[in-house]
Amino acid sequence: MTLLILDTTLRDGEQTPGVSLSVEQKLMIAEALDKLGVDIIEGGTAISSEGEFQAIKAISQAGLKAEICSFARIKKEDIDAAADAGADSIFMVAPSSDIHISSKFPGRSKEDIIEMSVEAIEYAKERGLIVEFGGEDASRADFEFIKELYRHAVDAKADRLTFTDTVGVFVPEKAEKTMRELKKEFKVPIAFHGHDDFGFATANTVFAVKGGADEIHVAINGLGERAGNAALEEVVMALEFLYGIKTKINKKSIYPTSKLVEKLTRVFVPPNKPIVGENAFTHESGIHTSAILRNTTTYEPISPEVIGRKRNIILGKHAGGASIEAIMEELGYKANKEQMREILARIKEIGDKGKRITDADVRAIVETVLQIKREKKVELLDFSIVSGANITPTASVKLKINGKEIVEAGVGVGPVDAVINAIKKAVKDYADVELVSYHVDAITGGTDALVDVIIKLKRGDKFATARGARTDIIMASVEAFIEGLNILI
Ligand code: MN
Repeated sequence: MTLLILDTTLRDGEQTPGVSLSVEQKLMIAEALDKLGVDIIEGGTAISSEGEFQAIKAISQAGLKAEICSFARIKKEDIDAAADAGADSIFMVAPSSDIHISSKFPGRSKEDIIEMSVEAIEYAKERGLIVEFGGEDASRADFEFIKELYRHAVDAKADRLTFTDTVGVFVPEKAEKTMRELKKEFKVPIAFHGHDDFGFATANTVFAVKGGADEIHVAINGLGERAGNAALEEVVMALEFLYGIKTKINKKSIYPTSKLVEKLTRVFVPPNKPIVGENAFTHESGIHTSAILRNTTTYEPISPEVIGRKRNIILGKHAGGASIEAIMEELGYKANKEQMREILARIKEIGDKGKRITDADVRAIVETVLQIKREKKVELLDFSIVSGANITPTASVKLKINGKEIVEAGVGVGPVDAVINAIKKAVKDYADVELVSYHVDAITGGTDALVDVIIKLKRGDKFATARGARTDIIMASVEAFIEGLNILI
């Protein structure tokens, strides 16, 4: 039997602090999970709200291949809500540790818990549900009691059993040993539900599989209460690539699913998160990137295409010619030696300021450098700006136009406006140029980001579009304007 995968992104994952999904969003994620190939989608807790009930109903009616599951307590109303919503199954938990029993069912004994569980399971079976039964907080409970509880559950016709590490205090050795012992005694499939409070969720889940677990509970991006549940992407990739255990997951859908969940839950994946983090397949230093371009396995354990993503090469102060050429080739550009030198210089200048440079930044720099003509009619020699809270922004520029030096000054509503006005005055004897549009973008976040300015100029019936890319918005604007002039004059 291949390993069963229960995805709890929409239940435990939605219990992540600050996450709340609409019915439509839950349905979108459920469809993505179905494509990803999970066996069981735990869609939520039908009893908890009208929205949850509607979400489970919508997912159940969507015609998905996966079994649709609702979370439930050992309570009749929870079972009814799940069945009424049309769920195929319930993941039903009974408190099993002393802490959980005394705080959730004060005054009740362990025998009472067994009796209530048996009644609940029998009722759920009457309502036609597949029952996956678990002891909540099992990892902190008396193991003899857990087995006693499970024996009664199986007698009451529970279809599957789950061992839950509710507060993430298990260790891999124990996970493996516990699964082995449960497998020895029980014939029904046994699942493991792990949390990441000590960073062991993936390891515990993998070791549970080694110990014979038939099913695992995981969530996309490791979402879940507190530190989260075991991350689907980590567990699946570790099982397949490190232990040679095949799963039914369509690995190419892993990254797109992660991005969808990130977008809809607004829980951002840390850049250094294994498999799906921004940096997981990003290379920066020049030596690494040139080696990786020759042979990708030098610094990558798996290739990014396997999980449906691309390698990302980031240029910084370590950038080498090889990595830039690779990006240029990807963009379809060719530069001569002089242009290459200029591109490299600009990239290193930004890298030295401690900024990361993305593909989009490189693209802007390359396009800016490539548009620069060898022979310039208009050349910027110098400029200065005075700007502040209570003075009119004033700029002076020194230009070389057709070999002649010209100094002009201008004022404006802001520093960019002032310097553009000064340049316009300086060139008015040569050309009457009009600024048609001015567009500015910060390519990456932060006030020290590369700024991309695109301007459109008009002279008579001729138009020119030019761009400037610098970390300084005024420099970028001046650069774009001057390049535009050079096209028009
Ligand atoms: Mn949980």
